[in-house]
Amino acid sequence: MRRGGRSGLFTLVAVHSTARGPALGGCRMWHYDDSRGAVRDALRLSRAMTFKSAVAVLPLGGGKGVIMAPDPAGPARRGLRADALRDFGDTVEQLGGSYVTAEDVGTSARDMERIATTTSHVTGLSRRRGGSGDPSPWTALGVEAAIRVCCERVFGSPSPEGRTIAVAGLGNVGARVAAACARAGATLLVTDVDARKQGLARDLGAQWIAPDDALVAAVDVLVPCALGGGLDHETVARLQAPIVAGAANNQLADDDVAVLLAQRGVLWAPDFVVNAGGIINISVELEPGGYDPRRARTRVRGIADTLRRIFDDAQATHGTPLDAAMALARARVAEAE
Ligand code: NAD
Repeated sequence: MRRGGRSGLFTLVAVHSTARGPALGGCRMWHYDDSRGAVRDALRLSRAMTFKSAVAVLPLGGGKGVIMAPDPAGPARRGLRADALRDFGDTVEQLGGSYVTAEDVGTSARDMERIATTTSHVTGLSRRRGGSGDPSPWTALGVEAAIRVCCERVFGSPSPEGRTIAVAGLGNVGARVAAACARAGATLLVTDVDARKQGLARDLGAQWIAPDDALVAAVDVLVPCALGGGLDHETVARLQAPIVAGAANNQLADDDVAVLLAQRGVLWAPDFVVNAGGIINISVELEPGGYDPRRARTRVRGIADTLRRIFDDAQATHGTPLDAAMALARARVAEAE
């Protein structure tokens, strides 16, 4: 953690593991009440990145970067944002490649270009700059693959056609998943806390529901794509969907919720397996020969096989999909150590 020379803001990097390769993780620009909160967040998120990359069999470890924004609205002084990004690049550069940064909540592909002015250990640059660009379409592709695997398990057919699907959060990922489900012939229910997204719902021929109703809607598949999933003991007790598969990070309030989901006969696809499409796409950018979207597409579709294996392992060990995914991640980190 260091205070940036240009911006005066604190920037920090947490490196959880480099056993499988350089620690990759996004740079989050966020307001925290104090530095302890920022450190806690970075440590928790860097650990999650280790597991996400390991399950996806990427040659990467887990890390996370944080720029502590001075107020909830982000850097106020003109030029402060650019200075903070360059300061963050200095921090990354000091780590000599053991951490590689990417975009995250509060930062964009354009911000990565700013960071690239002070370090070369940055990914997710725009396609124009030879990078892998916006990760969201790739994350959405992984979510689509996961929905199909879950439908195959529960209904015997992978096709979303004729299924009722609720998508919560119509942002970069959710809007794409909803459009793909509509194209595939699903009946769609959608929601967002941003009421302006109702126009998109109309365009997709989807029924608009209130955000609080999404988690408990009587649908075949619930697709959490908002910020934080909100699956806790209370909501899971009222859940009607037999499948939950979405991009939202940290969907479970705690690990025990995975047990409750299994007891209630709900097939939950672990979020860090489902939403790995973005990081898989970024890892292709780091491969020798550079970025190739065709290779990225094949790799992201591999999420389906990973998920099938996790469901098989869970069944064989009488555990939850979360147990199986964590066991797979730990084994892959251990074999690299
Ligand atoms: P986004 O910010 O573009 O979209 C999130 C949407 O959710 C917004 O439209 C927001 O208004 C809405 N929202 C917030 N709270 C809500 C609530 N309680 N109920 C309904 N809607 C709500 O984010 P995104 O890039 O689409 O990512 C969605 C989720 O997937 C996030 O949890 C993110 O961390 C995760 N994720 C995204 C990527 C990626 O490539 N973008 C990769 C991995 C994980």
